[in-house]
Amino acid sequence: METETVIPLTRPQTDDAELAEIAEVLASGYLTQGPKVEQLEDMIRALVGTEQAFAVTSATTALHLSLVALDIGPGDEVLVPDFTFPATANVVVQQGARPVLVDIDLDTFSVNHEDLARRVTPRTRAIIPVHPFGLSADMDPILEGAKRHGLAVVEDAACALGATYRGRQAGSIGQVGCFSFHPRKSITTGEGGMIVTSDGALADRIRLLRSHGGIREHGRFRFEAAGFNYRLSDILAAVGVAQMRKLDGFLEARRRVAGWYDAALDGVERLIRPSTPEWATHTYQSYVVLLDADVDRDGVIAALRADGIETTLGTYALHAQPFFSRTYELQPGELPNSYRAFRSSLALPLHGGMREAQVETVVARLRAALDAA
Ligand SMILES: *Cc1c(COP(=O)(O)O)cnc(C)c1O
Repeated sequence: METETVIPLTRPQTDDAELAEIAEVLASGYLTQGPKVEQLEDMIRALVGTEQAFAVTSATTALHLSLVALDIGPGDEVLVPDFTFPATANVVVQQGARPVLVDIDLDTFSVNHEDLARRVTPRTRAIIPVHPFGLSADMDPILEGAKRHGLAVVEDAACALGATYRGRQAGSIGQVGCFSFHPRKSITTGEGGMIVTSDGALADRIRLLRSHGGIREHGRFRFEAAGFNYRLSDILAAVGVAQMRKLDGFLEARRRVAGWYDAALDGVERLIRPSTPEWATHTYQSYVVLLDADVDRDGVIAALRADGIETTLGTYALHAQPFFSRTYELQPGELPNSYRAFRSSLALPLHGGMREAQVETVVARLRAALDAA
């Protein structure tokens, strides 16, 4: 029998504000991409400071559209950190290009700069740095390498809306940045995403390709490209507008919960707490600890589940997933840090509505599970 979940991994924070915004859209009779999408785009631009923002249906379609707009295709290579959600690399595959997987550092879970530099070839066209769990990658060395080799930088900032790197907003640092509005991210629209850029030519391509490749002229369209329909509905954008008004509070609440974890986990053996380098502010999309290599992480997850506490792995080592392993002939463990993180990372429950007593319960049960593991 499944134990009832008492402390879930996450819980989206919504209230009457979202309902009021949705009601306004429904009453307007205009349900597809319209004024609410524009309002949400304006709010994101105001936050991250880019010239343009384009709402789309997810971070995955945001990443895909970015690569299409950059004209990434067959014969091209794109550098992707190995420790990420598969969407980061899948979009490269969708374009007929090759994702070249790069190992990470275990202290930040971000791309390792030496391994990145080693994997650049004459076919490399772009880098997709990921900001894992809401902590910005160390962008300066990435930007330097990209400049030296003439590569585009597409930030996978899916987890990092509101995170900063040396005072700059994550997503605004590369040529283009992509955010997710999935329920586990900084704000949610159920499903949704956003592309931000200050590159005018790229923005024009993105605008065109987001909506069928059509340019509106005299009340009809002139189709200039074989585009997509990646538009976000105004119904979902309405949820996003209400969420954006609460973003500061959301992030503050997440950081407060993370602070409780930091304190409660101080001195707990057989794990390393997440650390934030001095150049970053963290959104804590997830609070991910790294367990000692000899700990049976999945056993810990099962023990906590039996206590009604939902935890999960941090994220995936792509090279060890069947598709990537088979297609690119990679052996599990070939990217050792990513593989270690895949096997030993543990995401603890974290959402803005959590109370300190719940954090203490999680940590007490985790301690017991580690003692038994
Ligand atoms: C969540 C996530 C995605 C996918 O976002 P969707 O909006 O669900 O498509 C991509 N990359 C990373 C790093 C993510 O965490």
